[in-house]
Amino acid sequence: MHFRDFDPDSLPRSEKARMWLDIAPRAQDGAWRLPFLSVTGAAYGPTLLVMAGVHGDEYEGIVAIPRLYEGIQPADLRGRLLMLPVCNVPAYESARRSSPIDGLNLARVFPGQRDGSITEQIAHWICQKLLRQADFMIDLHTGGIAYELPLLAGYVHDESAYGQASLAAARAFGAPVLWGHPLPLPPGRSLTAAYDHGVPCIYTEAPGGSGIDPRVADCFLTGVLNVMKRLGMLNGEQTRQALSHHLLGHGDLDSVIETPVAGLFQREASLLDEVEAGQRLGLIQDESGGVLVEIVAEQAGVLIMLRGLPRVEAGDGIAHLAQQV
Ligand SMILES: [Zn+2]
Repeated sequence: MHFRDFDPDSLPRSEKARMWLDIAPRAQDGAWRLPFLSVTGAAYGPTLLVMAGVHGDEYEGIVAIPRLYEGIQPADLRGRLLMLPVCNVPAYESARRSSPIDGLNLARVFPGQRDGSITEQIAHWICQKLLRQADFMIDLHTGGIAYELPLLAGYVHDESAYGQASLAAARAFGAPVLWGHPLPLPPGRSLTAAYDHGVPCIYTEAPGGSGIDPRVADCFLTGVLNVMKRLGMLNGEQTRQALSHHLLGHGDLDSVIETPVAGLFQREASLLDEVEAGQRLGLIQDESGGVLVEIVAEQAGVLIMLRGLPRVEAGDGIAHLAQQV
């Protein structure tokens, strides 16, 4: 079925479904298509959209969603759980953050374009067919192959009822770090599209790397279940975990401390370190060990992101700081 022909209201009550939603033809044959999973409850309730694989190299959400699907029975559910385990399929197939077809980062093109490139079409149909029908959205990210972030729940930091719903869900999710983003949100993110449609939302980050950390996948699974309990979709107690940090910041990873030169990044600080303005965070070295440039904190703050992959190109993001609430 093409994504344009899909309607979540046509999903039968009290059933599980597993299907493919076509986006566009592939160059060889067949179609680029997104895996879609749903559980519709026996009773009415909210619609929750859970997505992963917006970046193609972030694996824990991709494995957590099928476990969520297997574990929830329609008889136990109020409302509808709509799930996209891999949103950017071309990026996923090439184990990259962005699509090799059009070079676009799906997390920069929301709400997408109906007649745009493949990545823009994916964003468009997710917004039109799933996000707009949702009462809440969770987007599961990690740092991917290149970046490291602490295991965190990100939310929209605002005094409004919208912001309070986002914060409450982020707290319920149960990650050890909360990261709030004041308005206006940077353009193109799923979070921004959700905000524009009035759909409260949270997202996650996690250490990343090239593997699958089972503790992160477990946290994602438990976190989504906690949010569902909070939304009244499932019965049961929410599991609690101590909060280590509550941080604020714009959260725009396009606007971070960058390296001006290519080379090898040698870090001298760790995630969640509290650093001073002017503190050295690491060095960029050449192949002979010569220091090309020092990476320095522009301001005081808590290290929320660090480059994980040592080899860097000029302009790559190296570190990002957040502020304590
Ligand atoms: Zn991501």
